[in-house]
Amino acid sequence: MIQRYERQLRFPQFGETGQRQLMALHVMIVGVGALGSHVAEMLARMGIGKLTIIDMDIVELSNLHRQTLYNEQDAEQVLPKVVALEGHLQRINSSVTVESYDCELTTTNIEGILQDTNPHVVIDGMDHFRIRYLINEACHKHQIPWIYGAAVGSKGTVYGIDFQGPCLKCLLNTIPDTAESCAVNGVLPTVVTQVASLEVSELVRYAAGVGFSGKLLTVDTFKLNHQGINVTTLRDHNCPVCKNQQYELLNKPMQQRIEALCGNTYLFRFEASAFKNAQYLPGQFIKANPFAKIFSYDHVQCTLFQDGRMNVYGLSDDNEAQQLYSQFEKSIK
Ligand SMILES: [Zn+2]
Repeated sequence: MIQRYERQLRFPQFGETGQRQLMALHVMIVGVGALGSHVAEMLARMGIGKLTIIDMDIVELSNLHRQTLYNEQDAEQVLPKVVALEGHLQRINSSVTVESYDCELTTTNIEGILQDTNPHVVIDGMDHFRIRYLINEACHKHQIPWIYGAAVGSKGTVYGIDFQGPCLKCLLNTIPDTAESCAVNGVLPTVVTQVASLEVSELVRYAAGVGFSGKLLTVDTFKLNHQGINVTTLRDHNCPVCKNQQYELLNKPMQQRIEALCGNTYLFRFEASAFKNAQYLPGQFIKANPFAKIFSYDHVQCTLFQDGRMNVYGLSDDNEAQQLYSQFEKSIK
């Protein structure tokens, strides 16, 4: 069985020991959009032992330019990303165990999921910034190494955090570029694959027993610049997370009803009953399955999920989002 990995076994610093350790590893990937699906594919092909994948979205046509494992059929069937991805991964490597969570990762469920699944390493595949500070807190509290990765525009950042060095909170002021919103800057597929590859590279080092690189890695796939900053001097000696174990986000459960996402997209949060009351919403239903309902209204398109979340595409600003939210809320009450 191990022979299918012969080419990577021949790399001496990895070798059969690295392979066997990789085959015993359990990695949790949070977010399986562009970054996370590439990471999942590479790890499945390389023979990871187990993957736990978490995501709350369905596959859409606009994902396919950069999320290469998904296809038009997945979008046509309105499949949740974790459902589509699990099928693709099993066809790539049937010896990998895949466990999936079709849900939003929040302050209230993150610790329970980490405790239930107990992964060796967590890999970041998220596309918005705040959630990463939540992951940073939860992983520090439960002492789980994690690999931060972000891609916006042509710029990417990767940092493997094992809690020997500074945590993400310590580096808050050092990583401004990829903290920008991809709503403004878009994202090039080339930076996505590079960031995913660097995240997996950190995991390969971990599996091989040499540990994370201890570098904050940055790439710009338009300027074609690469940089690795040694992080040892960047530790915040008063860091609330890794010095004082103050987990502010974990202890303050909070969800906004309206949140701006990538592109002209907003996330609305309604009660879970919105899914069964969807017929009272204004607009034209286009597609529906047990996971999601898609409808159009005026110039926007909406996807309503079974837990009451709704992605709304084509909104121009916060005011318009607020007005539409109020209108929808009234109609499903
Ligand atoms: Zn810290």
